[in-house]
Amino acid sequence: MIRKKLIAGNWKMNKTAADGVTLTKDILAEVGRETAVDIVLCPPFTALESVGRTLEGYAVKLGGQNMHPEKSGAYTGEVSAEMLRALFATHVILGHSERRTYFAETDAFINKKVVAALASQLKPILCVGETLAEREAGATLAVVQRQVEGGLQGVTKEQITTVIIAYEPVWAIGTGKVATTAQAQEVHAFIRDLLTKLYGEALAQKVRILYGGSMKPANAPELLAQKDIDGGLIGGASLEALSFVALVKAAVAAA
Ligand code: PEP
Repeated sequence: MIRKKLIAGNWKMNKTAADGVTLTKDILAEVGRETAVDIVLCPPFTALESVGRTLEGYAVKLGGQNMHPEKSGAYTGEVSAEMLRALFATHVILGHSERRTYFAETDAFINKKVVAALASQLKPILCVGETLAEREAGATLAVVQRQVEGGLQGVTKEQITTVIIAYEPVWAIGTGKVATTAQAQEVHAFIRDLLTKLYGEALAQKVRILYGGSMKPANAPELLAQKDIDGGLIGGASLEALSFVALVKAAVAAA
């Protein structure tokens, strides 16, 4: 397989630093040395340092959930790519639908973050996905195209294989409604085609496209068996070691 599967846990606004360390230790005890797939934990900013220290010496990587595109300055409440790098984060989630919805983030703003993350050697996990209203209006592919093209403006051929795209239908996030494997694979294949048009076939084949939206141990094997589904961005099921570890194992089995 040309693409290594990746399972990333998005803890959102959950877990204190102490609780995050406990969860991390439980995960490491089971899959801390797993190298058949990539594993990334994305705790809230306040737990990044303690979780990062706990990960030292293990194969599991650290990611932020967001960042500001500027290097530094008067942006109260924000953190920069450099600050994430200083805590040994390797990844950063950008353009999550909760940021787009609650914090009015636009494709142009998200694009600035993608470019800034890459300039600081952080791997962006660029989230895209349609709302229920957009799906019902038949606009899914148009929305995803706008978000992928908008998010990747200025990203070069040299950089594109370090970008990870997460397709997360907004109606499936935290709702228990998972996209059918056919619905998910259709959009993943569409994104791969889009990447082929933008960067050529060889590079497009190397870009990982994750699925996110109520992925659980029960539905993961079928999703992860799809040709263009290269892993998962996991919300709810990443908050318990048992379910997160089961998802990692499902990815190993599908690798
Ligand atoms: C997410 O927010 O990225 C996500 C996929 O959440 P959940 O797994 O809870 O649907």
